[in-house]
Amino acid sequence: MTLLCSFAGRRLLPAVLGAAALFVAAPAVAQGDPPAWTRPIAPFNVLGPIDYVGTEGLAAYLIRTPAGAILIDAPMEQNAAAIERSIAARGVKLADVKLILLSHAHFDHAGGLAALKKATGAKLVVGAGDAAAVNTGTPPGETSYGVIRFPAAKVDRAIRDGQQVTLGGVTLTAVATPGHTPGCTSWSMKLPHQGRTLDVLFACSVTVAGNKLVGNKRYPGIEADFRRSFATLGAMKADVVLPFHPESVDLLGRVKRGALVDRAVLPKMVADARTAFDADLAKQRQ
Ligand code: ZN
Repeated sequence: MTLLCSFAGRRLLPAVLGAAALFVAAPAVAQGDPPAWTRPIAPFNVLGPIDYVGTEGLAAYLIRTPAGAILIDAPMEQNAAAIERSIAARGVKLADVKLILLSHAHFDHAGGLAALKKATGAKLVVGAGDAAAVNTGTPPGETSYGVIRFPAAKVDRAIRDGQQVTLGGVTLTAVATPGHTPGCTSWSMKLPHQGRTLDVLFACSVTVAGNKLVGNKRYPGIEADFRRSFATLGAMKADVVLPFHPESVDLLGRVKRGALVDRAVLPKMVADARTAFDADLAKQRQ
């Protein structure tokens, strides 16, 4: 089982520290995140104009275009400086990052948005269902691990399923894949590569990861949303899947082996997620 947004290993501060602890900035409240989440790695080219500028355990992707760059995700507040260095190391000036897109409003993907937005001046585009969460720095829904806040960032555009963003001839289409969060958004793009056109999917998380599936008052439609997203992703074809938890498809290994283009990745990801979801739901219903 991979660490897809898994909070099983987190150690929350003991309640004995009192209510004051609840108001400490999120990263200080919780300990025990996987060390790989904050472990820097050298940025590298993924494919064509797509670079990896995240940490070892949390992805951020940079898409270079003639009109500037698009950044997808800003994982963790404390990683923002490392992401900025990685962007610069790929030869892109921070001021040339024009758009920041988000997969979903959890601290491990959205925690650096405020800092990166400030450093770049980019416009921020997030799934409509997560817009309020990003604007307030408060994750949506109810979980078994409580509320882990992150620095709020002003959303410039709340995007819905099928809507597009375009920069310098590169178009990304929002694919609503809610469940993990209400606004969880995957992004698809066409990539000309060696004489053919590849379907690339930046896949939002489809794991339960501590979400309350039964009696979730802040997100009552969560079960139906998960099932709809499994159907959506199950009906899609992707030549390249780029996740935000890279180990989920062994992304770093695939890049090293030159094995990124693989149509079997998405169906397997969906099948595994569906099985895990059903097991988690059965457990929560007991
Ligand atoms: Zn998440």
